[in-house]
Amino acid sequence: MFLKQYIKDVWGAMKSLATGMKRTGYYFTHHKEIITEQYPDNRDTLVLPERFKGEVVMIHDENNEHACTGCTACELACPNATIKIITKFDVDAETGKKKKAIDTFVYHLELCTMCNLCVEACPTGAIKMAQTFEHSVFDRSKLTKTLNQPGSKIREGVE
Ligand code: SF4
Ligand code: SF4
Repeated sequence: MFLKQYIKDVWGAMKSLATGMKRTGYYFTHHKEIITEQYPDNRDTLVLPERFKGEVVMIHDENNEHACTGCTACELACPNATIKIITKFDVDAETGKKKKAIDTFVYHLELCTMCNLCVEACPTGAIKMAQTFEHSVFDRSKLTKTLNQPGSKIREGVE
């Protein structure tokens, strides 16, 4: 009885192996039908879906200027406290008047659900969702980012 069951199991395993090898052999000769992406080998040719969202970034132009006024609308719109806007007051050189400005845009990538609500809430289009997705780090603190670049300032005319 034991021997009969053993032979049956071996036969089943061989049959299963042959089925798998048949499928492997098929794709070996039909490359165009393979839909599995060989990541990370395909990094250079990887095409992400248009709506894929990887992280929030602040848009800076070639003059290192952005459109963030520090209004905190994005912070208020975020459902899970991913954003913290720290503001400061800049003094206008001509008028001497103080004006609120962004000091640090703190973004906790590890908390972000990529819901896009902050981007939709921003009245000046200062932030957007980027498609970068390779966010693995050994140190969790590296996921806390400052989105305004060092030395950047608000673009003239943005209120
Ligand atoms: S995408 Fe959503 S979760 Fe992420 S920072 Fe914006 S509002 Fe918050
Ligand atoms: S990114 Fe937009 S919504 Fe957020 S503080 Fe700056 S201007 Fe306001």
